[in-house]
Amino acid sequence: MLVFTTHTEIHSFLSDKKKSVGLVPTMGALHKGHISLVEIAAQENEWVIVSIFINPTQFNNPEDLANYPKNLVQDKIALSAYDEKLILYVPEPEDLYPEKLESKEYHFNGLEKHMEGAFRPGHFNGVATVVEALFKKLIPNRAYFGEKDYQQLQIIKALNKQLDLKIKIVECPIIREKDGLAMSSRNTLLNPEQREAAPVIFKSLKEIKFHQTQWSVSEMEAFFQASIERESQLKLDYFYVAKTSDLIPTYNLEAGMTYRIFVAVFAGKTRLIDTVELEKKNTFTPC
Ligand code: AMP
Repeated sequence: MLVFTTHTEIHSFLSDKKKSVGLVPTMGALHKGHISLVEIAAQENEWVIVSIFINPTQFNNPEDLANYPKNLVQDKIALSAYDEKLILYVPEPEDLYPEKLESKEYHFNGLEKHMEGAFRPGHFNGVATVVEALFKKLIPNRAYFGEKDYQQLQIIKALNKQLDLKIKIVECPIIREKDGLAMSSRNTLLNPEQREAAPVIFKSLKEIKFHQTQWSVSEMEAFFQASIERESQLKLDYFYVAKTSDLIPTYNLEAGMTYRIFVAVFAGKTRLIDTVELEKKNTFTPC
């Protein structure tokens, strides 16, 4: 596996190759969710760049940044199956932020306003800043992002349009543990009791999906809140239903539109997010 710490080394390596390049941006502590992105990228490109960079500017909470899991040795083992076409990019902050380690300010037509945008102030400015730097410095043909971070994915699609770099953004499905918990690097921070309680998040989302034609959004919210409150290890941060096109939370579901549920739940200090799509129906029970 080729490992580089600067984007210029990657440029010189790829310069005479003229091949398709897929980029998988990550913050490391890789799990099967990340690997699924690498797998898709490896099928679609001759070279795959996996970046591992814990981006300080997207953390609104210094403790969260300090505790973020790191395991480069294990990450290299997890990627070894893709050795032949894999370029691992592990930059120092100066390579992505040559001037100052700070976010730029972006506007994405309101996509950035609610949910993670509201609950983690500055988060999406940090994400967009680092993704813009990665896109401009690495210039991939395609870039791969998970639907687990659905709001981030929509923002990156908007950013990509604004930058006009003609990168194809590929959306990849959420990979879950056997018990339904969405895979996340943060899951390694859960203690055994928190880990045992955490599957309630997806279990409750599935239950809501099952009742989606009978329940109003308020009923969905009340059900989710009660399910989380029953678990002493968990605390609800938010529950929203938003139209997938504008990501504005709503209590009124219009027929023919596509909606998603977005949740964030604390297990101790570890914050877990999840999302499921509600099926498009011709009629919804009004709230
Ligand atoms: P992260 O390292 O958490 O910044 O994630 C890097 C990329 O992996 C992002 O595009 C995430 O959406 C994606 N990702 C994280 N967890 C999962 C998962 N469980 N399933 C699919 N993609 C994921």
